[in-house]
Amino acid sequence: TPTIGVLALQGDVAEHLRALERGGAKAQRVRRPEELAAVDALLLPGGESTTIDKLLRAFELMEPLRARIADGMPAYGSCAGMILLADQIEGGMADQQTIGGIDMVVRRNAFGRQVDSFEGEVQIEQIGGEPFRAVFIRAPWVEKTGGEVDVLARVESGPAAGRIVAVRQGNLLATSFHPEVTGDLRVHDHFVSIVKDAT
Ligand code: GLN
Repeated sequence: TPTIGVLALQGDVAEHLRALERGGAKAQRVRRPEELAAVDALLLPGGESTTIDKLLRAFELMEPLRARIADGMPAYGSCAGMILLADQIEGGMADQQTIGGIDMVVRRNAFGRQVDSFEGEVQIEQIGGEPFRAVFIRAPWVEKTGGEVDVLARVESGPAAGRIVAVRQGNLLATSFHPEVTGDLRVHDHFVSIVKDAT
């Protein structure tokens, strides 16, 4: 059984821990470099990417995380977590940094101010079955992807139709939406299977 960490600096930590355990992993909080060293993979929850960036640097997790990711550790980022896994962001704060790892440009708060949050249906071909009820909360979307990146899902209808909201590059997975709030655990299960294949 792989051990998956959930970055516990801010955000929906408890929901993600539960979802990973229901998916067959051992899940534990990661807040310190020693805790990061003890996990096989890491989930980066939603929250506020500017705050998480500052905390990552303050807790001296930024460099170890970059090193683990460069070394092939699987990671899954949701919403702010997607922003943190992007090599490049648009609409970031002046000194905002990311961990990086996925060759993509992500736009923060992309869906506009009027639409703080919305729900839509999203189909992820690699996961299959019924479409996901995707919940977007001040969510980013992916503006641009490099050649190594697989686009897993796009918004299907409405003004944002066609926008990329789920991607994978190697062992790195990212979604604009928050699967932990719907009770649909297929994204977590998919991540657990990526981790099992990698370890
Ligand atoms: N708007 C947030 C950010 O830029 C992300 C929102 C979320 O994670 N729900 O970090």
